Order: sequence, then structure tokens, then C-alpha cells
Amino acid sequence: MRRKPHLRNHIAVLPCDGAGKEVVPEAIKVLSAAGAELEFQDYDVNADQYLRSGQPIPAAVWSDLQKADAILFGAVGDPRVDDAAYLAGVLLRLRFELDLYVNLRPAKLYDDRLSPLRREDRRKIDLLIVRENTEGLYVGMGGRFKKGTEQEVAVQEDLNTYLGVTRILDYAFQAAKGEVVMVDKANAMTYAGALWQQQWKAVAKKHPKIKTRHLYVDAAAMQLVRDPTQFEVIVTGNLFGDILSDLTAELIGGMGIAPSGNINPESKRGLFEPVHGTAPDIAGRGVVNPIGAILSASMMVRHLGHNEMANAIEGAVESAIRAGECTRDLGGSLSTHEVGDAVAKRLKD
Ligand code: ATP
Repeated sequence: MRRKPHLRNHIAVLPCDGAGKEVVPEAIKVLSAAGAELEFQDYDVNADQYLRSGQPIPAAVWSDLQKADAILFGAVGDPRVDDAAYLAGVLLRLRFELDLYVNLRPAKLYDDRLSPLRREDRRKIDLLIVRENTEGLYVGMGGRFKKGTEQEVAVQEDLNTYLGVTRILDYAFQAAKGEVVMVDKANAMTYAGALWQQQWKAVAKKHPKIKTRHLYVDAAAMQLVRDPTQFEVIVTGNLFGDILSDLTAELIGGMGIAPSGNINPESKRGLFEPVHGTAPDIAGRGVVNPIGAILSASMMVRHLGHNEMANAIEGAVESAIRAGECTRDLGGSLSTHEVGDAVAKRLKD
């Protein structure tokens, strides 16, 4: 019998701007050390390119990105460009047009010393935020009436569809082993909240073995700080997921360490990026933490079906952190490159 040729996954690499340009090469270094058989192709999508061409993503690049098995992404942002239009033309376009409706933001504490929480029994943090990624307040519907006058009216619409709400709730139940907590603000945002509540009850009925709990977002923020160990899977809308995942990043050591994946479980498309942005205050000096990007790369290979490799990368990250081989935000003194080397070395040994 003829063996099927081994197909290498094709990864589109978009380091973009600021800290993104520094951390993505470290993630690729670690993937190579882990023996990943991946073909990487770098794309010139960044603020310099945007300023030259006026196009956030050139048409030829877009057609390649649609075909890639996965996208490894850094961060977008630059003081020289209008943030909203550039962000919408790159990251939001990719999320919306590739229909990457699930934003996975795991938060796991790899070493006790990174926790800001005083009580030791509150530190076994291993939770997953499942954030709706294609709707809500991010769709850009609305406008400014009488702009620039003292009578100005600004409207920003919060879009929630039956399909969008139902499919993200479904995903959360599939991701959970024990309990899903749904977070909304149905007491104040009554129309959108009613749809979330209705579908929450309907989807929960299909998963009788999974426990359910509902929290308003203000209470969820409070509970996350009081005792984050009580959470396994939190499912929520686009805005609340964005905010709560910055909070959970701080619970595990800070913005530099938190990974994320933007996926479509049906089409299998995926874009993987650290939760942090371009870190303009520290970018360009070789001190940004590459761990968020490295763990995002680990999520990417898991998504592509390489579970053992993903576990090995996570293990190497944990071991480097515990050994204190990290950047200064985690209490170490290594540079961005040296942290990449420290993780890569553990995978080669
Ligand atoms: P952007 O406008 O690109 O979103 P930002 O300033 O809003 O940038 P982040 O880039 O997420 O937000 O940075 C928030 C804070 O976290 C900053 O103080 C930054 O220095 C810190 N930070 C972000 N990424 C890292 C990193 N990789 N390593 C260390 N610190 C980081």
C-alpha cells in the first residue's frame, strides 16, 4: 500500500508592529526546536507597509492568508497611524472575515511566585475564557451625529445574533469537563442579555452532565480576584471577554505571559497571538517577554493536532519560568532572545 505523503502545515507569519516583531521570531525558534514540521511564510503586514500603500492588508496577501493552515500573529499598532482603522483593517478583518468566532484565552499559573494573590490556596489557577469574537461592540456599527459640536451624539451598537450567541455557548460546553460559567450584564443590557439568557438555558439543556452558573460581569470580576480557582470555563461576549482576560493575565504573571487563539471549529481556521499588544513603552529594547507568543504557538500546534508537541512546549515554558530564566516582568533578567533560547534548549535536550 502506498503511504500518503506527509503534508507540512503552512503557517502564515504576521509579526506586525512593536513587541510583535520581537516575540514572534522567538515563538518560531521554539517551534523549530520542538521539531515542528511547519512551513513558515512571513508577510509584510505592518504600519510601515500601511503607510506606504494605504492598505492594511494588500489583496495578494489576503488571498494567501485565506489559504494558510494557521496564522501566527504578533500585535498591531503604531503611533503614526489611526489606531481604529488599522486595527479594523488587520486583526478585526481577519477575525470577522475568516469567521474566527471563538477566542480562547487560557490562564494557567505556572509558578506560585507569579501570583499577586496573598492567599496560597487561591493560586491553583487553570481556567479558560471563551470569548465571542465576531459580534458585540466590535462590529463597528454606529456613528457620530453633529460630530465636533456640543450637540454631538455618538452611537455604538452591540450586535448579538441568535447564531453567534448559540455557537459560542455550544463551544464552551464542549470545552468544559465540569462547569461553565456564563457572564453577561443582562440586568442592564436587557435586550442582548435576554438573547444570551434564552440561549444559555437552551444550550445548557443539551449538556446535562456539565454544571452551569451565571454571573453578571461586575460580580465575575470580583470573584476572579477573590478566588480564581473556582473557575474552569467562562463564556462571555466580545467586550467582557477582552476585559476579563486582561484581568486573568495579571493573575498568572502579567500581560507578557498570556496566550490566545482565534479559531473556527468548523472550518478549522485559526489565528494565534499573545494577549498583549505592541507594548510601546518597552518595545524595541530586547526586554519584552516572548512567553505569551510561545504559548500561543503551542496552542497553534495543538489546534493542528500535535498534542504531544504542544504539551512539550508548555512543559519547557513552565520549567524555564520555575528556574527563573525569564524576562524582568517575571522577576528575571534575561532578554527576549535569551528566554526563547532557554525554552528551546529544554526542547532539544
Ligand atoms: P497596544 O496599543 O498595542 O494594544 P497597549 O499599551 O495598549 O498596546 P499592551 O501592549 O497590551 O497594551 O501592554 C500593556 C502593558 O503590559 C504595558 O505596560 C506593557 O509594557 C506590558 N506588556 C505588554 N506586553 C508585554 C510583554 N510581552 N512583556 C512584558 N510586558 C508586556
